[in-house]
Amino acid sequence: MRLLKTRALATGAVLALSLAACGDDAGTGGGDSHIEVEVAENPEFPEGSTMAKLAEAGEITIGVKKDQPGIGFEVPGEDIPEGFDIEIGRIIAGALGIDDGGITWKETISDNREPFLQEGEVDIVAASYSITEDRRKVVGQAGPYYVTGQQLLVREEDKDTITSPEDMKGIKVCSVEGSTSLETAEVEYGAAPVPLPTYSECVDQLENGTVDAVTTDGAILLGYAAENPDELEVVTEPFSEERYGIGYQKDDTEMCQFINDTLEQSFEDGTWAAAFEATLGEAGVETPEPPALDPCE
Ligand code: GLU
Repeated sequence: MRLLKTRALATGAVLALSLAACGDDAGTGGGDSHIEVEVAENPEFPEGSTMAKLAEAGEITIGVKKDQPGIGFEVPGEDIPEGFDIEIGRIIAGALGIDDGGITWKETISDNREPFLQEGEVDIVAASYSITEDRRKVVGQAGPYYVTGQQLLVREEDKDTITSPEDMKGIKVCSVEGSTSLETAEVEYGAAPVPLPTYSECVDQLENGTVDAVTTDGAILLGYAAENPDELEVVTEPFSEERYGIGYQKDDTEMCQFINDTLEQSFEDGTWAAAFEATLGEAGVETPEPPALDPCE
């Protein structure tokens, strides 16, 4: 049995909780979207395991998005980015006995998540990272810890004319290189999308009129819409299933099991729901039931 100690954030957990309770915007400002995370005291792991090495070092590098409000978002002047993926990363680090001071948040964009894991640039990835068969051929993906689906983001004035994924035909749709969203738009809906490295660049292009829509996971789009509610609107029913997983080094089954156990614990003790409410919940997404985890192989 691990001994757990509760650790307050440097900013003061009481302050953080009371500010979060007051309600803030999409969790992109103010540094108050962090939950209180338990940091295990001297956790024990099998000798030689990745968990033992990370726990011993007291350090972990987590690949995250830094431009997706509500998911993974860097706030100028703040050490810790904000978003649901960030809180999940903090929960996993905490179970390894690593506190916020031991976490390096490394930016990953959609296209470099597999190479970053393969080359050891990051220990794990928590970056709106859908579990797919193709990705699981080259990296490990534990989870899912969240399920969302692809939708479209349009300018407010277009919300009654662009209403279904079929409407992607013949309009300029921006999505991101290396994402499932780009592939679905092209392969399933015959769109000729505009591929860019990040979603924030796509949203810039939507706002300045260069493209007509942005497509990716609803959870990501809702974060951008919450930042600019007068001008941007999320439309269409979800037309794919995106199961977010935690990336780890391929074939490290012990690590997969540890991540799954940690996620399961957070589902049960309410930490997962608290993380959701403090981040995506602030963008107006209702807290779902936690998903069923895939078994580790
Ligand atoms: N969840 C999708 C994916 O992993 C789209 C979001 C992203 O690119 O991060 O490809």
